[in-house]
Amino acid sequence: LVSRDNHPERSTVRVGGVPIGPGTVTLIAGPCAVETPQQTLEAAQMARAAGATLLRGGAYKPRTSPYAFQGLGEAGLRILADVREQTGLPIVTEVVDAHDVELVASYADMLQVGTRNAQNFALLQAVGGIGKPVMLKRGMNATIEEWLMAAEYIAQRGNLDIVLCERGIRTFETATRNTLDVSAVPVAQRLSHLPVIIDPSHSGGHRDLVLPLTRAAIAVGADGVIIDVHPHPEQALCDGPQALVDGDLDELARVMREFPPLL
Ligand code: PEP
Repeated sequence: LVSRDNHPERSTVRVGGVPIGPGTVTLIAGPCAVETPQQTLEAAQMARAAGATLLRGGAYKPRTSPYAFQGLGEAGLRILADVREQTGLPIVTEVVDAHDVELVASYADMLQVGTRNAQNFALLQAVGGIGKPVMLKRGMNATIEEWLMAAEYIAQRGNLDIVLCERGIRTFETATRNTLDVSAVPVAQRLSHLPVIIDPSHSGGHRDLVLPLTRAAIAVGADGVIIDVHPHPEQALCDGPQALVDGDLDELARVMREFPPLL
């Protein structure tokens, strides 16, 4: 279903009216985690100022440590819905448990399945049946073939509104959190008709890498990027070191403008 063999035209997925697909480079930006109404609104305003047309933000956070901030849950979803109301930006947010799919989908414009759940087949089937677009991150240990098969689980349930997101894979390299596999973009686009975007924030894990990796994403033909921004990253409850700050936004907007999409 997701193979390009039976569907030669590359697909465009619309999220609250915003296209992700060939001919555009969609900027999705926002906080890694929803922490407070004020922080989420400020991050959304930063995102919009940089040219973002979709707001990201996690209310359910899949953390490596059980002692780390796990997200605000439904209270976080309510904050996101309020901020959507105030800014007009449709919401992309993660769901980590098949039991929460209905609840998260009742607030979200697009559901995100994260790298740690990329082969959670019950979750993939649940998001496939809920009638909302899905962003499927690549498992950090998954081959491209395994990633596309994971997408197939969603598609099998009747949902072809899937955006693939390359977010770095595990290698021997320790200078970055994960190694951004830029080759995955043209390879996945050759094998599948689905749009492919890149997450330069979670792959690199460092603020300084976000703009160079964004340039790489656009140069290699990605259909979009998803980027963390935070008004006060030093106080962030999750992944502060990778969040862009106010001072980075002009440069981000310039990068997005100056690197037109490959057609
Ligand atoms: C995220 O985007 O909030 C996230 C946790 O990303 P990943 O699943 O790629 O680590």
